[in-house]
Amino acid sequence: MDYARRRARLWEEVRGRGLDAFLVINLEGSESPNLRYLSGFTGSFGILILAKESVLATDSRYTEQAQHQVRGLPVEEAKGRWLPWLVERLSALDLRKIGIGTYGTSLYTYRELCRLGEGMEFVPANGLVEGLRRVKSPEEIERIAAAARLTDEGLRWMLGQLKPGLTERDVALELEIWYRRHGADDVAFDLIVASGPASAMPHHRAGERRLEGGDIVLLDIGVRLDGYCSDLTRVVALGHASRELRDLYRLVLAANRAGLEAVQAGVSGQDADRAARAVIEAGGYGDRFGHGLGHGVGLEVHEAPRLAPTSDDVLAAGHVVTVEPGVYLPGRFGIRIEDLVAVHADGCEILSGFPKEELLVV
Ligand code: ZN
Ligand code: ZN
Repeated sequence: MDYARRRARLWEEVRGRGLDAFLVINLEGSESPNLRYLSGFTGSFGILILAKESVLATDSRYTEQAQHQVRGLPVEEAKGRWLPWLVERLSALDLRKIGIGTYGTSLYTYRELCRLGEGMEFVPANGLVEGLRRVKSPEEIERIAAAARLTDEGLRWMLGQLKPGLTERDVALELEIWYRRHGADDVAFDLIVASGPASAMPHHRAGERRLEGGDIVLLDIGVRLDGYCSDLTRVVALGHASRELRDLYRLVLAANRAGLEAVQAGVSGQDADRAARAVIEAGGYGDRFGHGLGHGVGLEVHEAPRLAPTSDDVLAAGHVVTVEPGVYLPGRFGIRIEDLVAVHADGCEILSGFPKEELLVV
């Protein structure tokens, strides 16, 4: 990954805004996608001072790790309390007008910096790094594709194990163990296994319900592999599937395909959403598809851009997004089909290869 080039591009943006520096602050105790994107550092606490001479600071727990991970950037050890240390450092570097990323920076941190930083101005600057992260390099797309392949494989394995009597939690846990055993850093989110009526809740958490013959089982799953996420949803029927289920599956599949047809560079997130939504509306279920069509995927499982009726985004080559229409009938069942795609100038390339041609009965 070309971290130096990413920092150089960000620095151009920062200078273009008349700022002396830009801070990426991670004091939240978990890995920061922006810090990782700009430096390769995966520790849970760190600050990047991006300036003419950039510096990555972390504390003694992570300095050795940072020295291994971070190249072409000095690593400093922050001593004592972070924010007073930071302000002193900024002052020593004679940095006065300083942009600060607002996602992931707490209001407390911002206020403290304003209070401590005499003669300094902290300027909230939204979405600078997130903006760069939208367009993936071929190397990033390959990592996401690898995560998608692993996700497919795990699902194939899991479907061979699926049987009545297992709880949703059993399924989610078995799958998570399989993924970790096969090289995933982690799962990309709490795996969603929703059976029977629970499938009608788009973000149901796997619970204690036992699978029964005739159930719809919705699996919305993803892994992190080398830092990059995948996201896939398939539904299967256990034992047998009613006519109604098959018909609704076909409708959602037609919407999924219409969405995939629409996705290409230059198309707005609204129009892509509209293409899929129109199919579901024509099928008479327009009011049963409450969420947007999709979202960007990269170092985070939900990132820019968005495909939704309220989206202001326009797709560009190198974006990686999901296409995931669904129909949810409360108290009965829900169906969603989610694919992960890389956006090209003239269409999109599907990264998730798991079959979907018809409702799979296992
Ligand atoms: Zn998903
Ligand atoms: Zn998704």
